[in-house]
Amino acid sequence: MLPGCCDAAIICRSVLPRASARRGARILAHPPVAKPFDLEYPCAAAPEPGTVLEVAPGVHWLRMPLPFELDHINLWLLEDAGGWTIVDTGIGNQATRAHWEQLFATTLKGRPVRRVLVTHYHPDHAGNAAWLCERFGVPLWMTRGEFLTVHAVHASVASYTVDAASALYRSNGLDAARVTALSKRGDLFRKLVPEFPLSHRRIVDGAQIDIDDKSWRMIVGYGHSPEHASLYCEAANVLISGDMLLPKISTNVAVRPIDPGGNPLGLFLESIARFRTVRADALVLPSHGLPFRGAHARVENLEAHHAARLGELLAACAEVPRSAVDVLPVLFKRPLGDSQIFFAMGEAIAHLHYLHASGQVTREVDAHGVVRFSPSSERSRSTRSCWFGSRCTMSWLSRARGAPALAGTRIGPR
Ligand SMILES: [Zn+2]
Repeated sequence: MLPGCCDAAIICRSVLPRASARRGARILAHPPVAKPFDLEYPCAAAPEPGTVLEVAPGVHWLRMPLPFELDHINLWLLEDAGGWTIVDTGIGNQATRAHWEQLFATTLKGRPVRRVLVTHYHPDHAGNAAWLCERFGVPLWMTRGEFLTVHAVHASVASYTVDAASALYRSNGLDAARVTALSKRGDLFRKLVPEFPLSHRRIVDGAQIDIDDKSWRMIVGYGHSPEHASLYCEAANVLISGDMLLPKISTNVAVRPIDPGGNPLGLFLESIARFRTVRADALVLPSHGLPFRGAHARVENLEAHHAARLGELLAACAEVPRSAVDVLPVLFKRPLGDSQIFFAMGEAIAHLHYLHASGQVTREVDAHGVVRFSPSSERSRSTRSCWFGSRCTMSWLSRARGAPALAGTRIGPR
């Protein structure tokens, strides 16, 4: 059953100054001094569950509770040809459905729901997709990768199993007691997504979807989930960013058992760079936190945040070879409970894999199968280019054309 609930959950806070993240900068050995970072928040408070707030013409904000440390998710209702398009659905429990029922009787005013669009597979986004689609007889719109992942996690196939997760965490240094704790977490995903549609209307990157009289461009991103869909309407100057761009917390980016050697942080950073193609003053509608303006600044801030974390990890690995478990105190300053340790492990592995993929560290496996990382030699570093650096030609070219692409992302050595 992995990943568990609210994979949107977010562990590290980013408070670093945007000035420290110049595009093209190499990994910082010494993180910059933290400074406050301000975005513009046009809405002072969120609507109560079961009510909505219109944040742009025809764009309505609703909020549903979550029974986790991250205690809410924002959902969106878009006016659509006399009816509605629903974007994201909340977890599939009775409390959330009761709030939906209240909305059906009030805000929706009996007008038809025309489609349900889900940004990605995590339960707080996908949990009520089947319930809503069946109720209104409408299709689910989703990327193929996200759609299939719901079914894979639901069925515990491929590497969405406790055994595969245990093997990943064990090989990255987690002790037996905490690995055992993982196996006792139970199948939370099926509780939060009790059923799911068997077919979908496929969303692809760059597709334009007409909603009411406006065109929304799909911006598919990676690193947080397989093929996360964000929606941008230039005419309305609104970006529904989902979990890819959040105002105060950094999106969870984790290595998963299905791609144990992957570089999701590289993919994530390339993905959020695409938000530079939206207007700098666009109203950003995130899945968690308040709507804000300042998309470009927030991207720069997140780049600085991760660059600083990478610099800290590189310095830690220079002292002695480190596993992912060894670097948890470097990344996370507070004690981690059992439910948090697995998100934290995924994050730590992702940062180490980024350093590995960019040639900053080498990887060694000890006699117990535990992977540790240490800084590469200067010669080794010079033979590989980091996607974040100016030598990544494909990435640089695509940015120069104003359409960042993922063709240049280094996804890692074997
Ligand atoms: Zn998520």
